[in-house]
Amino acid sequence: MRVGVLALQGAFREHITDLEALGASVLPVRLPEQLDGLRGLVIPGGESTAIAKLMRTYGFYEPIRAKHAGGMAVWGTCAGAILMAAEIADARADQEPLGLLDAVVRRNAYGRQKDSFEADLQIAGFKEPFRGVFIRAPRIESVGPGVEVLATHGERIVAARDGNLMATTFHPELTGDPRLHRFFLDRVIGAK
Ligand code: GLN
Repeated sequence: MRVGVLALQGAFREHITDLEALGASVLPVRLPEQLDGLRGLVIPGGESTAIAKLMRTYGFYEPIRAKHAGGMAVWGTCAGAILMAAEIADARADQEPLGLLDAVVRRNAYGRQKDSFEADLQIAGFKEPFRGVFIRAPRIESVGPGVEVLATHGERIVAARDGNLMATTFHPELTGDPRLHRFFLDRVIGAK
């Protein structure tokens, strides 16, 4: 199975390693043409403003939307979750989201870099807790009616899924736990 990881900025290498370890054929995506033939795309964590700027420069917005409309699954982690949302709360004019997942996301919802933290999360369908690494994490403020909440931390939604779209506000690629990557390959890709 061929999947891509958007490799413009941020923690893309770790996602590539994790997905390859599960047997996927993984392409670091640096140009929109490389989206051709991908079953899924991971948009990594990093700095959403920087990733958005590079996405605009290289012309990624319309191709990602078009490929998703044609069936490509998308998983956004942290900055990627911000970028795939329908709306960014209090966004600056230059922060354009892809508008794939029916959700409102707020950047830096827990404060500054020093307010980064880790927490054990109960994820729907997972027996054991999943260690969530939150680095200047966003929060998912609200989701539309078709969106399933997969995990919360306190009052906050930290993982959500709608068919072949998934958003996590933490960094599963930094914990060595393959369960969310496997879930993406086995359950999110190919879902309607
Ligand atoms: N705070 C970052 C942003 O707004 C996201 C941080 C991350 O991806 N770890 O883009």
